[in-house]
Formats: sequence, structure tokens, C-alpha cells
Amino acid sequence: MTAAPSATALLSSVFGFPSFRPGQEEIVRAVLAGQNALAIMPTGGGKSLCFQLPALCREGVTVVISPLIALMRDQVRALREAGVEAGALTSGNTDAETEEVFAALDEGRMKLLYMAPERLASGATLGLLRRIGTSAIAVDEAHCVSQWGHDFRPDYLRIGDLRRALDVPLAAFTATADEETRAEIVTRLFDGHPPEIFLRGFDRPNIHLAFAAKDKPREQILRFADARRGQSGIVYCGTRAKTETLAQALREAAHAACHYHGGMDPEERREVEARFQREDGLIVVATVAFGMGIDKPDIRWVAHADLPKSIESYYQEIGRGGRDGAPAETLTLYGPDDIRYRRTQIDEGLAPPERKAADHGRLNALLGLAEATACRRQRLLAYFGETAAPCGNCDLCDTPPEVFDATEPVRKALSA
Ligand code: ADP
Ligand code: MG
Ligand code: ZN
Repeated sequence: MTAAPSATALLSSVFGFPSFRPGQEEIVRAVLAGQNALAIMPTGGGKSLCFQLPALCREGVTVVISPLIALMRDQVRALREAGVEAGALTSGNTDAETEEVFAALDEGRMKLLYMAPERLASGATLGLLRRIGTSAIAVDEAHCVSQWGHDFRPDYLRIGDLRRALDVPLAAFTATADEETRAEIVTRLFDGHPPEIFLRGFDRPNIHLAFAAKDKPREQILRFADARRGQSGIVYCGTRAKTETLAQALREAAHAACHYHGGMDPEERREVEARFQREDGLIVVATVAFGMGIDKPDIRWVAHADLPKSIESYYQEIGRGGRDGAPAETLTLYGPDDIRYRRTQIDEGLAPPERKAADHGRLNALLGLAEATACRRQRLLAYFGETAAPCGNCDLCDTPPEVFDATEPVRKALSA
């Protein structure tokens, strides 16, 4: 028997990283020890490594459930380039690719097998996973199991049964931090038995935070983009139609810009994703459909032409900026119409009353952030359970608002 190479040695020899990022080491250690784990880490925090590295140290195959073919392909490609036996079984495979995966499995070479959740619907999958010696399960983007989130994937609900049937450790990963989603993940993936939970490091200190009252939104966004000409950015909009008109306006102002939303052909969407990845200085004007699959480290700015629907969405969306650690800037516009629109969206949705109450709470938390009078980051982090000093990298730290004492005029008005 050969001793498993140490995790730290593999970190540099296989992945080429000199050290762990904040939070990674503890998670890797727990996963290596075969503990059930739920790791919540910001986008770009380096979650993949936390299941990939332990998979290399363990006998047998680690099965990775991931929601998007594009994400799986990227990871498999990167792993293969690093000399790791990894493969994916997805509906996007060619026959040759699938055959290659099965060959590697039959020969016992495979270390990481990526699989779309839809596969779990087939009765044959459990037999396959048993036969190949599955020794652990990793669930990427675990918030997809949450029925109330906008990334809900019904087939994620099958993962709990899979874990029970295989009786192997499961590690779940997500960037979605709120208490409720966390509880839902624990219930659905771990039968309610709390796994070891890792939750830390939410701060993205390189991202500058700013809000502005919506006045002339088109001009405001154009001005923001003009000041960042040539840098890659995203503008999030509340509606599909607006992504198209705003992209047009940006092009008329001589920016490289295109729109992106869920109503476009998959082909068209892939094209925009690929262009954004490849080009420098492209602006994508998008709905929230532009999200999970983006893995571009040097997005220099993120603007919201409309208020996001919750503080979690806000955090996730601005978190796409500055993943390389270099400065990134954000601007979120909001006005009374946004607030009405978001409230109506919740009220007219199909969610049960307690869910609607929670959604209003998340929206209100974002409004609180928008209307804050002191450091926004402090407030944002406090929402996620972290305490911090004033950040020095938000609009309110840059220019503290003049506090207007309304007591005297109000008293006068009332006594008049
Ligand atoms: P997440 O899934 O948490 O959003 P990823 O796993 O995609 O993040 O990792 C984000 C980026 O960080 C990737 O480019 C990855 O190569 C890099 N990365 C991960 N771990 C480390 C590390 N220890 N040192 C340097 N870079 C790392
Ligand atoms: Mg990831
Ligand atoms: Zn601040």
C-alpha cells in the first residue's frame, strides 16, 4: 500500500498553488477525514479545490454533482491538464467521451466523476456508482437544492437518497449564505443531521461598494461605464427588455456591449459567455440568468441598473467582480419604482406566506443597505454574521454623509 501523498504537497504539485486560501485548509482536512461537511464560501473563494484535492488522496471515486454542463467541462478540463483522471457524464457528451469515461472507470483509474443531477433519476445510476467504488460525494452549488431559490433544480432532491444508499461521506458547497438556505441544505442532503459547517471569509475587501438613488438611470450607467472604458463589466437589469435597450445605448456610446437573458437561444447565450471570457473590455448587460457559469477573474466592475431582489442576490452579483483580488467597483441604482416592483414580485409569486415573509425580509435587508448612513460593508457583513471595522472602501466611507438632525424642525412643526 502506498501512503497517500500529503494534501499540501498535492496543492503545489498538482494544482500549482503555493498555499491554501482562507478557509480552504480546514475544509480539506474535514473532507479528508471523511466528515460530512457543508462549506459556505464566497464566489471565487476556491470551493472546487476543497473537494478535488481530497478526492486525490482517497481510494475510489469521488462523485461530483454539479448543475451546469459548462461548469463540469471547465473543471474536468482543468483537472486533466493537471494530470488528474477526471471525467463527466452529461447529456452534452459525445459517445466517444462517454466511452472514455467508462473505460477509465472500468480500469479503476478515475478519481473524480462529474455528473449532472438528472442522471440520478435513472435507476441504473446507483448500480453504476456502487460498482465503480464511489467513496465520497461532493455537491457543488448546493443551494440548487433549495426550493425557494432561483437556482432550484428538482433533481438535486435525489442526492439525499443517493447519500443514504451509498453510505459515503458527503461534502456540499455553496456561496449562498443565509440561514434558511443553509437549513434547507442540511435537511435535504444530510437528513437533518448537521454536518460540520464551515462559514467564514465573506469579505471581498477589493470590491468597492456604492449605491445611488435612481435619477436618470441610463445616463448614470453610461457615466459609470464611460469612466471605466475598456474594462470588463456587467450591468444587471430587472427585465429582459431593458438588457437589450441598455446594451444598445452602450454601443451607441462606443462601448463593446451585448445583452444576455434567459429568453435567448442557448447557442446565443453560449456565444456571449465565450466572448466575455475571451475578450477584454466587453460589457454584458444581463438579467440574473447571467451568473453561475461565469468564471472570469478580471471583471472590473458590476453595476445594477435596477435594485436586486435581495441582499443575497446583491452579494452574489457584485461578488462576480474582482475575483483576481484586484480592485473592482460596483454601483447599485435604486428608486421607489424598484422597491414597488420587487415587493409586487414577491407578493404575486406562488410561494407560501412564510416564504413571502422571508423574501420581504431579504429585500428589506437590501433596502437597509441602500439607505445606510455608515459603512456599507460593515452592514453587509453583519447580515452574514460577521463583524468588521469600517472598511474604507465604500461610498459612505469615502464621503460620510452629513447627518441632518431632524429633531428640532420636527418638534417645531409638531408644535406649530
Ligand atoms: P468558487 O467555486 O468558490 O467560486 P473556484 O473553485 O472556481 O471558486 O476557484 C476560484 C479561483 O481561485 C480559481 O481560478 C482557482 O484556480 C483559484 N484558486 C483556488 N484555490 C486557490 C489557492 N489555494 N491559491 C490560489 N488560487 C486558488
Ligand atoms: Mg464553484
Ligand atoms: Zn465602508
